[in-house]
Amino acid sequence: MARYRDANCKLCRREGEKLFLKGTRCLSDKCAIERRQYAPGQHGRNMRRKISPYGVQLREKQKIRRIYGILEKQFRNYFKQADLKSGVTGEILLQMLETRLDNLVYRLGFAPSRKAARQLVRHRHVMVDGRIVNFPSYNVKPGQVIKVKEKSKNLDVIHSALKEVGRGDDYPWLRLNKAALEGELLEIPKRGDIPLTVNEQLVVELYSK
Ligand code: SF4
Repeated sequence: MARYRDANCKLCRREGEKLFLKGTRCLSDKCAIERRQYAPGQHGRNMRRKISPYGVQLREKQKIRRIYGILEKQFRNYFKQADLKSGVTGEILLQMLETRLDNLVYRLGFAPSRKAARQLVRHRHVMVDGRIVNFPSYNVKPGQVIKVKEKSKNLDVIHSALKEVGRGDDYPWLRLNKAALEGELLEIPKRGDIPLTVNEQLVVELYSK
């Protein structure tokens, strides 16, 4: 499966803001955005400030895609599916991304980043409703229970994530049982409850051209 393999921090620097792709490092003074507030590459310091309306839409799409760690083709497929459903397309798009298994493992605090969450899922450490699910894009439905497999409950990465990053019980649409390393998706999150400062409507405008 295709994957982005370059440095994550370059993605934040390109977007000019923190995308929180590297767990605890993002909260420390080692964060590349804190140190170098310009785009990566030879011409990063000299990049034109003024961007076209198309450029603004493109950057917003890239930002959302990068936050969730999704490649272009898959992201466009999400958009097509969201567009077919009735409701606000941008909100549905974000809801589909939020209910991916890797995102929920991250939101529950079992991993320091979505990338680490994806690895936990791929390496078969995570169960949904009592069965191992090893594909990160698995769409979790309300009422389903996500749990760390019994044999994996001692993994350091999970405990340090729960301790250092400490999310999990911050979201009204999730229920977390820290002691049991288990969580439940209570409902599809509403847009106002998704803590992302992005304008998903710009993605709709971009793809609707
Ligand atoms: Fe982005 Fe985190 Fe790297 Fe900072 S440390 S630039 S927030 S990935």
